[in-house]
Amino acid sequence: MKSNIEIQRIEKSKIDSVDFNNLPFGSVYSDHMLECDFVNGEWQTPVIKPYAPISLDPAAKIFHYGQSIFEGMKAYKDAEGNTMLFRPLDNCKRLNKSAERLVIPEVPEDIFMDGLKKLLEIDNDWIPTNEGSSLYIRPFMFASGIGFHASPADAYKFIICTAPSGAYFAGKVKVLIEEKYARAANGGVGFAKAGGNYAAQFYPTQLAIEKGYNQVIWTDDNSHEYIEEAGAMNIFIRINDTLITSPTSDRILDGITRKSVIQIAEDMNIDVEVRKITVSEVIAAAQSGSLKEMFGAGTAAVISPIAGFGYQGTDYDLPELETPFAETLKKAITDIQTNKAEDPYGWRVML
Ligand SMILES: *Cc1c(COP(=O)(O)O)cnc(C)c1O
Repeated sequence: MKSNIEIQRIEKSKIDSVDFNNLPFGSVYSDHMLECDFVNGEWQTPVIKPYAPISLDPAAKIFHYGQSIFEGMKAYKDAEGNTMLFRPLDNCKRLNKSAERLVIPEVPEDIFMDGLKKLLEIDNDWIPTNEGSSLYIRPFMFASGIGFHASPADAYKFIICTAPSGAYFAGKVKVLIEEKYARAANGGVGFAKAGGNYAAQFYPTQLAIEKGYNQVIWTDDNSHEYIEEAGAMNIFIRINDTLITSPTSDRILDGITRKSVIQIAEDMNIDVEVRKITVSEVIAAAQSGSLKEMFGAGTAAVISPIAGFGYQGTDYDLPELETPFAETLKKAITDIQTNKAEDPYGWRVML
């Protein structure tokens, strides 16, 4: 890192125009953002400045070759006004893993961490305190360097924006198990948070929505027999009292919520199996009544329960349980995130 962070403060905060009791998810932005350029082979001084549009050359490679990656994380504020993050170094490391795969230069850990902490200090009033609300944080990096030659750019931008947000999903979702399309392939970029992965998900998801579902359950690209992810979340399936989740791979994103859920569930003496799970196993369990729960896990929604799924023209409903694992685990993880419970793991980072 070249030097400290340069700070340009906004003249007049727009916070008074925001209704913190009715926050959408990720579409109201805080006063400031952090921007740091990589040019001439080096990262420049990061700048915290008023949130505003950025200007790019039409030949910037992001527009043509899609070198673009991101992260998603949250900041929380407890009743005493303490600000905290959840496993933020894991996001920094994963951003750099995505960067390597997309030939984007890695962002130094101090620019990421010190920049983020300073941004949260300056926009501290933007961190919501209402139950279920948080400050959603979006770090991202993309090719700002120009040229129509299909090769990596020579300049990049790292930006962090934040958005005070309410809860992500309302209610349970109905999902469709995918039989034709895939979000990721062996040797591809499915493990990276690369922008293009999401662009590729939109079309099959739109088809599922037209059929009356909310989301797609992704299966492997080769046989479509193995369950891999739930939309942009990792998936957990409960058969009897065993919680099963697919192992991470080239095709599956190594979610921070996923690995936290695994750890917490194991420590609650829930039987957890990290293994491949077939569609036929899930159908058989649904038919015999041993399929108890399915849920997605990811930063935005934390845990998103699934009400039922469709496969080959048949709909299967999941039972309504009194105390689903989904609820117990969501409470356990959010209590740690928001400082309502002890954090035996050292996941919570107080600012
Ligand atoms: C971000 C993401 C997840 C969840 O990761 P978290 O670290 O828990 O937020 C899962 N699957 C995909 C495809 C994702 O993009």
